Amino acid sequence: MSDGQPSSFDDRIYIRLDQGMPENRKIVGLSDSAFRLYIEAICWCSRQRSNGAIPPAALKKLGPARAVKEITTGPGALLESDGDSWWVHDYLQHNRSSTEIDVIKEAKSDAGNKGAHARWHVGRRKPDPKCDLCFPALKVASGG
Ligand SMILES: [Zn+2]
Repeated sequence: MSDGQPSSFDDRIYIRLDQGMPENRKIVGLSDSAFRLYIEAICWCSRQRSNGAIPPAALKKLGPARAVKEITTGPGALLESDGDSWWVHDYLQHNRSSTEIDVIKEAKSDAGNKGAHARWHVGRRKPDPKCDLCFPALKVASGG
């Protein structure tokens, strides 16, 4: 029986949506294609680490023109323009900034390097001259 804990950690970057988002007054009246476009736009911003900005040309590629119009115009617009880009309203209040994503990726990379070092170099007693953890002094001395 599961205790609710995942068997392994999922290391993908996720976006965050409020559980009440579908019933939000700005969302509830959207067409299915506009709803999809809005989710696509948020995912695009996360993948591109754009902090919520999306160029008009990129937005057009994500959905049909009528859906773009739906989420960018009117009093309930979900994206706001600064003249150059569209911005997902309150994106950084809920989603990771580019800096946060970089820190997470770097920490995961460090953890991966430590795991490989422990398994392959320490565990098999085969130090690797290219491994920073096996030979930290060499890396410093060579400037690498
Ligand atoms: Zn090593």
